[in-house]
Amino acid sequence: MDISKITSKEQAVGFLNQFDNFLFDCDGVIWSGNTLLPKTIEILTYLKMELHKNLIFVSNNSTKSREEYLKKFRKLGINFINKNEIFNSSFASAIYIEKILNVNKETDKVFVIGMRGIEGELREAGIKYIGGEDIRLDDKFSVEESEYFQNLDPSVKVVLAGLDLNINYHRLAIGLQYLLRPEVFFVSTNIDSTFPNGKFKLPGAGTMIKALETCSNRKSISCGKPNLNMMKSIIKEHNIDISRSVMVGDRLNTDIKFGKLGGLSTLLVLSGICSEEDVFSKDNDVVPNYYINKLGDLYELIHE
Ligand code: PLP
Ligand code: CA
Repeated sequence: MDISKITSKEQAVGFLNQFDNFLFDCDGVIWSGNTLLPKTIEILTYLKMELHKNLIFVSNNSTKSREEYLKKFRKLGINFINKNEIFNSSFASAIYIEKILNVNKETDKVFVIGMRGIEGELREAGIKYIGGEDIRLDDKFSVEESEYFQNLDPSVKVVLAGLDLNINYHRLAIGLQYLLRPEVFFVSTNIDSTFPNGKFKLPGAGTMIKALETCSNRKSISCGKPNLNMMKSIIKEHNIDISRSVMVGDRLNTDIKFGKLGGLSTLLVLSGICSEEDVFSKDNDVVPNYYINKLGDLYELIHE
């Protein structure tokens, strides 16, 4: 197993010298919930301003649009990031629907199960949609009284599902009606089973997607990590050389798998979901090239 823990200044310098492009997962790497992890601003500033590295932030969180993500970065004191350096799963889904599924922006619609982050990215891409946070979907479900049910829209060509904090039977039932049409594509933002919230684990987007997959007997096309469509879009959009790129993440089965599938080098940080024990577990077959306790350690090692 070829894996090194970065523990010295020489290793940290050698690691950074190998790469021009740094893809960072967000939660568990940059921040934990709403708290910035130690020395994060210092290492990001050093990479961007002093070493002139290309930074790209890749998150599976679809609840925010890139615009909202940018606000979060700024609020946490990271004010040197631009919107085009952020790539999250709602944006990746909008790109997929626009560029791969080639929906007709005049005539086609997407039925959304998810939050306003998804709506924001679809709007920005000029893709028409229904559903999402529409309060009419909050009504207690009745086939006869549901405006959505009684007016099923023939122009819906895609069902896009992500984490929906207001998920209910009504939304699933409408989603199913569209998924029963074989010509309608089934796309999901990401399939994370859970996501962290402080000391709690909450049900992730995968929970909603599995429900829709079960009733429709279909499988969704996922746009988030570790899906290669997201990597292809990043490579194309940023014109990056994968041999000079590294994916930094806290989750083996999404971030590290994503980096490896894309042909990038990988660095696991132990400040999020995965522990050293997980890395060396006999059940783990996704081994990163490098690991370190937290991203900020790179800064501390270099400046010691
Ligand atoms: N999905 C949701 C809703 C989240 O809140 C989070 C993390 O906060 C994630 C996914 C995972 O995000 P990331 O890929 O940045 O770790
Ligand atoms: Ca993460």
